[in-house]
Amino acid sequence: MSPINLAIVGVGKIARDQHLPSIEKNPDFKLIAAASRHGGVEGIAIFGSIDELLAAVPDIEAVSLCMPPQYRYEAAHKALSAGKHVFLEKPPGATLSEVEDLQAQAASRGLSLFASWHSRYAPAVEAARALLASTTIRSMKVTWKEDVRHWHPNQDWIWQAGGLGVFDPGINALSIVTHILPRPVFITAATLEFPENRDAPIAADIRFTDAAGLDLSAEFDWRQTGKQSWDIAAETDAGRMLLSEGGAKLALDGKLVHEEPEQEYPMLYRRFAELIGKGRSDVDLAPLRHVADAFMLGRRKVVEAFYD
Ligand code: NAP
Repeated sequence: MSPINLAIVGVGKIARDQHLPSIEKNPDFKLIAAASRHGGVEGIAIFGSIDELLAAVPDIEAVSLCMPPQYRYEAAHKALSAGKHVFLEKPPGATLSEVEDLQAQAASRGLSLFASWHSRYAPAVEAARALLASTTIRSMKVTWKEDVRHWHPNQDWIWQAGGLGVFDPGINALSIVTHILPRPVFITAATLEFPENRDAPIAADIRFTDAAGLDLSAEFDWRQTGKQSWDIAAETDAGRMLLSEGGAKLALDGKLVHEEPEQEYPMLYRRFAELIGKGRSDVDLAPLRHVADAFMLGRRKVVEAFYD
């Protein structure tokens, strides 16, 4: 089989750090062009916009959309209208409704739409899911605390409406939680802390439950300096589970039971090729729905201004 001709739109941090190296190593794809307003990719044709890209390179079969979420719908709509399969970076869009609209467009055209959640492919996530499926969960606590100045320098979009603020990393935790829990959960209360000079939250404290009364809480905070925390801890009948380092390591009662090298983006591209091959889409909106619910139900607290 010949490789799928792929183009990238939005050549920023995640495209350079993860997409380009993963595509390069995957024989199912051949990167043939990109659209970028500022940057470029050595050795491939670059166009200033997705319109120019689609018009100039009809051989493109699939596109990866790596721009901020507020601009993803328009690009995805253009790509699907031109008959291309689409890989959406996380979060898949700025609203639930726009992603549902893309889902319908892809289905009506027989194209594959992949709403990627990279953290679900972290090394120990499947082991955690299997563990939780085999026991009774008493409670779960998510602690996702990082230093925004270190991880998101000069990213204005992330602080604007639709950029999600601390939910940009927090949605990674939610993508794992919604994958490893055996039953759906829902938010019962939330407090979102907004810096007085920003349109997106810098911290969030969220309570969830499920039909069986599970006690689940999540703390997201972007003001963490020093040690960073990307942990999901659970009290279960099998012992105390700790899924740490963003899903990289799994421990039970303090003993490490699963650790492997990280392969998130290579696995995402393998999944995208599989979806195209099977003529299917993969769009799970559960993580984005929880973020929407947190914005809907959450109490808004104004905190001190944030400057980079
Ligand atoms: P970024 O570097 O700030 O921006 C990505 C690229 O998007 C920019 O370089 C630009 O590409 C394009 N872009 C920016 N503003 C735009 C606008 N107004 N209209 C159209 N295109 C625009 O962001 P990033 O960190 O790569 O994040 C992009 C997405 O990937 C986000 O949804 C984020 O959640 C997700 N993600 C990021 C990371 C990470 O570690 N940074 C990890 C996983 C997922 P051109 O200059 O080429 O046009």
